[in-house]
Amino acid sequence: MNPESLARAVARDRRPTPASGPDASRFVNAWVEPEALDGDRVRAFVLILRTRGCYWADLKGCTMCGYARDTLGRSATAAELAEQLRRALERYRDEPYVKVYTSGSFLDDREVDPASREAVVRAFSGRARRLLFETLPEFASGGTVAPLRDAFSGELEVALGLESTDPVVLSRYVHKNAPPSAYLDAAGRLRQLGVRTKAYLLLKPPYLTESEAIEDVVRSVGEAAATFDTLSVNPVHIQGGTVVEWLFRRGRYRPPWLWSVVEGLRLGAARRGPTRLVSFPTAGGLARGPHNCGSCDRAVLSAIEQASLDQQFDRLDQLDCSCRGAWEAACRLEPLGVEA
Ligand code: SF4
Repeated sequence: MNPESLARAVARDRRPTPASGPDASRFVNAWVEPEALDGDRVRAFVLILRTRGCYWADLKGCTMCGYARDTLGRSATAAELAEQLRRALERYRDEPYVKVYTSGSFLDDREVDPASREAVVRAFSGRARRLLFETLPEFASGGTVAPLRDAFSGELEVALGLESTDPVVLSRYVHKNAPPSAYLDAAGRLRQLGVRTKAYLLLKPPYLTESEAIEDVVRSVGEAAATFDTLSVNPVHIQGGTVVEWLFRRGRYRPPWLWSVVEGLRLGAARRGPTRLVSFPTAGGLARGPHNCGSCDRAVLSAIEQASLDQQFDRLDQLDCSCRGAWEAACRLEPLGVEA
């Protein structure tokens, strides 16, 4: 099976049908997590709305993304979105940072219609200092963003899943639908509109070795830093219904070592300029997430989180464990096709 047909077969299998879709009046998830805002440690309220999901995930999708499983299989109505928001607000405790995701693009009308977008933003206006949402670059324009910027009293932040600044990595290994230049151009448009910009960078897309993955993320930090206010390094974790899971099940993919996250941040910190560099790994320490040997994972994850919150990356230099040697060997030997 070639990678193209594998990706399309996986995409077909993971999407819920409209008839079997989950309850459209319930959001996917909501939780509170630590964050930093203008130097303050704050609590961030994270909300995932249930929508039709990312259109690109239906056609082919990115190799690591299984969010289509959390979608409806059809567009949500304005009434359904309003009910999801009402339920979410029952959980909201005036956290100063709010992040709203949709398993796709908040600015795609097929996922969230313009009036519902504005309703979401207005609901947090006057209560949150900063509101973030994520979109694909083709939806980031004055027409979609300006009304939201005007409806929100605090700072708006728009996140883009840039993943890598290397066009080959982005198209052939991540399977994004647009080149890195589309993401950089969108960030430029967003800045002109007066909103903050954030990019997610993927650590270890499939088909890269551990050391190639570190090189890719460090170079991407250097090339994207001038265009974004925040860069977030996201190490791959194995999501269900993805090409990465297909490879993982066949022993052909290992999630990145936490040492690789540490190295990416240490080397990236030297290239980021004034841009914030953060990493909050999902599923850290688990077999399906970025992990080390098991005994040091908790301490390394804690150090990564602290460094991300206070932007002090020197603390990462002091980390050590006996498994560091195995990681170094993996970085050296994997390019030769040898298992460390
Ligand atoms: S990573 Fe983003 S663009 Fe790619 S399939 Fe998932 S939601 Fe769509």
